[in-house]
Formats: sequence, structure tokens, C-alpha cells
Amino acid sequence: AKELGRNRSFHYVRELTDSIHSRMSLEQDLRSALEAHNFMLSYQPQFRVGESVPRRVEALLRWPHPVRGMISPHDFIPLAETSGMIVELGYWILRTACQQFLFWRQQGLMLDKISVNVSPIQISSSFASTVAEIIQHLDFDPRWLELEVTESLMMSGTTEVSQQVCELRAMGVDFAIDDFGTGYSSLSKIKSMPVTVLKIDQSFVRDINDDVNDYEIVRAIVLMAKSLGLTVVAEGVENKEQESTLHRLGCEWVQGYYYAMPMDGEAFYQRYFAELQ
Ligand code: C2E
Ligand code: CA
Ligand code: CA
Ligand code: CA
Repeated sequence: AKELGRNRSFHYVRELTDSIHSRMSLEQDLRSALEAHNFMLSYQPQFRVGESVPRRVEALLRWPHPVRGMISPHDFIPLAETSGMIVELGYWILRTACQQFLFWRQQGLMLDKISVNVSPIQISSSFASTVAEIIQHLDFDPRWLELEVTESLMMSGTTEVSQQVCELRAMGVDFAIDDFGTGYSSLSKIKSMPVTVLKIDQSFVRDINDDVNDYEIVRAIVLMAKSLGLTVVAEGVENKEQESTLHRLGCEWVQGYYYAMPMDGEAFYQRYFAELQ
């Protein structure tokens, strides 16, 4: 038994150091990728239900790792957050997404808005002014930009956050609450949040036709949002049945694999330019 215990703790230490090593090397790789701007953005269109022409698009980060292949944002955004790298990375994402949007416009692909995900860690006292600097430098109309933030950030209600959000709202930048419904905020609190869009989390859309709770949650969100004059976007729509139900409940905007996977900027242009003529 003693022998077994020693072996066990040996294995435990091995596993622990392995995971620390892998975490450290991933952090090193992330740092190098940041210096080399070795990231990409994918773009996923958003449609008004029934239309084949996208009016809006969401930018999604991709990291093509030289050895590990494409790493999902789920696997490295947390590391970028704890290491603080998300701040610099976030500005790169914003600049790149805005440049892509401008490039599409120059080529004749006219969209209303591009939305960019923002981590709570990115919101500091210099956030609004740095965003302003980036878009002014590009000559990018602030009304084309929407920032997707989490429900908990909007709920936190700190003066820092609301000041940064208000500054950007005053410039014309919109805010969307991402993954709405997962953050336990009461629906009645939405009206005090300076947002224009609610994105219904894909976990509610997935079983909307099989789980009456999910159906009722979506129904309540759409009702409340509409009475407050907010736009509702359903995420993760994968089939026609989900689309029909969402439409019937009054949800006007949809995004998901049923319409398109996220794709690079060139593919997006090739696919939608002809449609927009
Ligand atoms: P999210 O913002 O909720 O993005 C939606 C995720 O769902 C994306 O995963 C997208 O590719 C995926 N998706 C789209 N349509 C469907 C569908 O029909 N079915 C299913 N099952 N999934 C669908 P992705 O690109 O892997 O991103 C994962 C998460 O990583 C994002 O969730 C977001 O929280 C974070 N993320 C991605 N890009 C960025 C970024 O630029 N900055 C920050 N801070 N976070 C990002
Ligand atoms: Ca998002
Ligand atoms: Ca989401
Ligand atoms: Ca999510």
C-alpha cells in the first residue's frame, strides 16, 4: 500500500508539473504569437430571419498554432485574460476587424455593423479613449461598431465600467450583451443597462423545440427585449425548425451554422458580395 501511495504521488507530481509546463509553454507561445501578430479573425454573418443577405457580422478570434494546430478561443482566451495579454490582443482584434470592415466597404460589400467580443479584463480607465483613437485613426464610423460584452460585466455596475461604456455610447458605439440568459441577471435589470442588443445564448436555442423551459426562457427574453426596444439576436441556430420557432416568438435576427460557419475575410467577401449587388 505504501508503494502504491508513493507511485500515486509520483504520478500526481508528474501530472502537475506536466500541466504547469504545458501552461507555461502555451503562455510563451501566446506571447510570441502576440508579438508576431500571429492570429486571425473569422467572420460569421447575422441575418434578419428570411433574408439571404447579411447586414451584420461578428468577428471571432482564431489562433493557428505552429505545432498544436488551430487552438479554440475557449482554450486560450482564459490564459490571455489571466496573463493580461488580452488587453493588447483585444486592441489588435478591434483594429483588424475594423480594417476588414473598411476593406469590404471599399470593395462594395456594405454591411451595417461589425461586432467585436470584449473581455471584462479589457475595460480599464483608458479603454474608451484607446478605442476612440483606433477608430479615428482608421477613419472608421463609430456607428458601425458594436462591442459584445458579458451580462456580468454590465451587471457589475462599477463606475469605471459605466463611465467607459457611456463614453463609447456617446460616440455612437453600440453594446450587445453576449450569451444572454446565462448570467442570472433579472430581466427587469436590462432596462437600466446601456445596451441595444441582446444575444440569446446558444444553449437555449439548441433545445428550443424539445425543452419547454428553454422555449419559455427565449419567449420571455424576446418579449421583454421588444418592449424595451432592444434588438434580439439568436445565436447557434443550426436548423430550420429552430429558426421557425424563433421567428414565431418574434426574434428577428439569427446567427449560426444553419446559415454559415465563421470564415475568413476573403471567403466572406466571395460568398456575399454578389448577393449584396
Ligand atoms: P461567443 O462570442 O458566444 O461566440 C459564439 C461561438 O459559437 C463561436 O465559437 C462560434 O464559432 C460558435 N458558433 C456559431 N454558430 C454556431 C452554431 O450554429 N452552433 C454551434 N454549436 N456553435 C456555433 P468560437 O469562435 O470558438 O468562440 C468561442 C468563444 O470565444 C466566443 O463565444 C467568445 O466568448 C470567445 N471569443 C471568440 N473570439 C473572441 C475575441 O475576439 N475576443 C474575446 N474576448 N473573446 C472571443
Ligand atoms: Ca460573441
Ligand atoms: Ca455568445
Ligand atoms: Ca459563448
